[in-house]
Amino acid sequence: MRNQCRRRGEAMTEVPQPRKKGAWHRKRVWPLHAIVGTLVCERCGKTYPAMGYQIRRKQRFCSGDCRYPPAEERFWAKVEKTDHCWNWKGSKVAKRYGGFKLDIYMLAHRVSWIWANGPIPDGLYVCHKCDNGFCVRPDHLFLGSQQDNMNDMKSKGRGNNRGRWRK
Ligand SMILES: [Zn+2]
Ligand SMILES: [Zn+2]
Repeated sequence: MRNQCRRRGEAMTEVPQPRKKGAWHRKRVWPLHAIVGTLVCERCGKTYPAMGYQIRRKQRFCSGDCRYPPAEERFWAKVEKTDHCWNWKGSKVAKRYGGFKLDIYMLAHRVSWIWANGPIPDGLYVCHKCDNGFCVRPDHLFLGSQQDNMNDMKSKGRGNNRGRWRK
């Protein structure tokens, strides 16, 4: 604040303005680390108290559990169940299998087998009885060695079609 009047050069008496208490919530810019409102969680539908920065970022979920749902839920949300096979609708690996990120990126049918039967022994493969690589139904899967897998492929006649046009 200026102490002198610009035009007349007279000293101005400075009147201290009392600071209004509780005026901050009327401003548009809210303090970032105080609870200033409520938001509704998109997953659980709960209304929760939100801080300024959460409102400013338009936060969508109330907690980490809502933002990152458990792996089972994420997995089965990408599966379309039919009478016969349960088809994977998520990301695809080599156009033949489903891919899913558990701790590491894995084939979806292997994840399904692990949840149904426990860890896969080293060096073994999870094969499909139904010959549908996107199927994640646990009772369509069986454990086999590399050789089993090759025999299986040959018996079902899909070992040799490497190219797109050869059938
Ligand atoms: Zn929630
Ligand atoms: Zn199947």
